[in-house]
Amino acid sequence: MSNSTKYIFVTGGVTSSLGKGIISASLAKLLQARGYSATIQKLDPYINIDPGTLNPYEHGECFVTDDGAETDLDLGHYERFLNVATSQANNVTTGRIYQSVIEKERKGEFLGKTVQVIPHITDEIKYRIQLLAKTGDYDIIITEIGGTVGDIESLPYVEAVRQMLWEHENDCIVIHLTLVPYLAAAGELKTKPTQHSVKQLLELGVQPDILCCRTEHELDLTLRKKIAKFCNVSMNAVIESRDAETIYDVPLLMQAEELDKVVLEKLGLPSKSTPNLDNWKNFLTRLKQPTKEVNIGLVGKYVELKDAYKSISESFIHAGVANEARVNVKWIHSEKLTAANIKEELKDLDGILVAPGFGSRGISGKIESVRYARENKVPFFGICLGMQCAVIEFARHVLGYEDAHTTEIAEDSKYPVISMMEEQKSISNLGGTMRLGAYKCQLKPGSKAAIAYNTDLISERHRHRFEFNNEYLEAFEKAGMISTGKNPETGLVEVVEIDNHPWFVGAQFHPEYKSTVANPHPLFVAFIEAAIKNKKK
Ligand code: GLN
Repeated sequence: MSNSTKYIFVTGGVTSSLGKGIISASLAKLLQARGYSATIQKLDPYINIDPGTLNPYEHGECFVTDDGAETDLDLGHYERFLNVATSQANNVTTGRIYQSVIEKERKGEFLGKTVQVIPHITDEIKYRIQLLAKTGDYDIIITEIGGTVGDIESLPYVEAVRQMLWEHENDCIVIHLTLVPYLAAAGELKTKPTQHSVKQLLELGVQPDILCCRTEHELDLTLRKKIAKFCNVSMNAVIESRDAETIYDVPLLMQAEELDKVVLEKLGLPSKSTPNLDNWKNFLTRLKQPTKEVNIGLVGKYVELKDAYKSISESFIHAGVANEARVNVKWIHSEKLTAANIKEELKDLDGILVAPGFGSRGISGKIESVRYARENKVPFFGICLGMQCAVIEFARHVLGYEDAHTTEIAEDSKYPVISMMEEQKSISNLGGTMRLGAYKCQLKPGSKAAIAYNTDLISERHRHRFEFNNEYLEAFEKAGMISTGKNPETGLVEVVEIDNHPWFVGAQFHPEYKSTVANPHPLFVAFIEAAIKNKKK
């Protein structure tokens, strides 16, 4: 362990979905605003190696990092709050932990020993926790333990935390996030679940230093005293975490509760400067006082579960603020769209985004949406599969390639305008084998994309197996769909645009993974700007 690195562990009690990710990101933001470099890591107690193979209905969006890791969506929050890129090391699952231990066992690295949860699995967890410190880039590492204390599957993680506390007493603290529910019948907030949850942690040998209490009502002094007394924490370490209007309020709410001050005190670190959150506050003011609004349709197949498109909806918030506009997102189920109802469904929209995705479900609704946007000159933004749908639609209805398709869905299409990338053809495993992570893209000067980015060479993150089939490029360009962004090494088409349209851009990459509060993504900003202009007409 690097001598100077400090560790904050964030555990959760009582129930899941208390918002550990947002609390962790908010704390990191406050520490960053005081001049500390902080990063966040999420340890997920499930057996999948990563969420890449998980259905979004199970686990929400799969977030992708520059280094091509398919990760938990909380990493998206970390990046959006901190404006610092994360990596594979920021997200570790039980599957990955066991995989490394088992690989080591096969190599004989344990020298004939019986391989056990303790010490081998817990050692591997501790190694992963300390890996980020080895980069030397961070003063503070916040490690969020997924799941709820008391779950069988999170036991090894809590044990690893206990060992870390024992071994590096002065460098580690534990923040326990719990629920203080309101009982309407009694008209009271109840502290018992919190007491029990702390007891459960104590049974595992971990005394939390700080309690973050999620509550719908004010935690008054009496309640704070009671919680402090029964859970062995100091009064100032009982932090109220009320429901917020927006997740972007949470850093300021935590600042008002002095969470950052208490954390630094307990870690023995100086407070340094008062946090500079001017830009953050400015963002919030603009978020809450928009001067206009736009209606954007998000066409996708997981719209019942908004977490499946988390980064896209957050990108809309950032781009809205940049344009001083409230972005009203209408979530549209692609499976329910047909040529017959498309006009009715999309007629009130100022802009249409067709979402990324895999497989055939809902694809025809996506293609119909592109057609509507193209023909009615409504600003259009297609991301990954959304861009591929734009290509298919153009092939079918402008070039007259009947039944043109992607070979992902129609392997024997007569016009495979989207086809599998050469390097993907020999791959049979599904996990971690797509074209993943950051690749460069050269933009065509003067294109909508180049104007938005205000530069010609960009780097964006990817997650796909299929690509524009360059055999058709000439025909497309002659008919008005231009490739305005290409990978400089391979010539792979990264961006398509249609001229003679107010704003029609399809991107093979995922711009949504790089939009942050500090840096709203240029393509989202330009798309919203075009939607506002379109509305005025
Ligand atoms: N299924 C498509 C591909 O693999 C698009 C992927 C995506 O939208 N992320 O190329």
